[in-house]
Amino acid sequence: MNTPLLYTRCLRCGRALKDHKSKSRGYGPECWQKVKHAIPPQGAPLTETRSIENIFTVNAVYDSIRVRVSSHSCPSCGALLSSAEVHSYDHEDGLNLRGFLRPQWVYVTCSGCRVDIALHKLTRNGCGDLCKHYRQVSIAEALRA
Ligand SMILES: [Zn+2]
Ligand SMILES: [Zn+2]
Repeated sequence: MNTPLLYTRCLRCGRALKDHKSKSRGYGPECWQKVKHAIPPQGAPLTETRSIENIFTVNAVYDSIRVRVSSHSCPSCGALLSSAEVHSYDHEDGLNLRGFLRPQWVYVTCSGCRVDIALHKLTRNGCGDLCKHYRQVSIAEALRA
């Protein structure tokens, strides 16, 4: 089904959307500037559901992601992302993170300018050991390789 979807309210602030461009992307012009770095290729999310399996694991995974992005700088204001907030929601193109039932689209919010940035724009090596299917390679296997 490829019916173009039109939003009536901004997904970020909830205000009514006026022009067609805003309606089709789901965000007003100001909010779009804040979220455009975080939106997956398929466009704006309809909901921000997180299918959590274990909240303690989720918190640990978020903490690890926070540490990983802390040395990167914000593409919008240039500040270090050392106190960025980590967020995610269910998305089929996301990462299979531990603690979640469904793949997660992960993004961080710059504490300085409040811009949202997708994790994959900051680090290309995916979820690594935070991923459900990550397998620690034993020393024996490493020697064999
Ligand atoms: Zn808005
Ligand atoms: Zn920033």
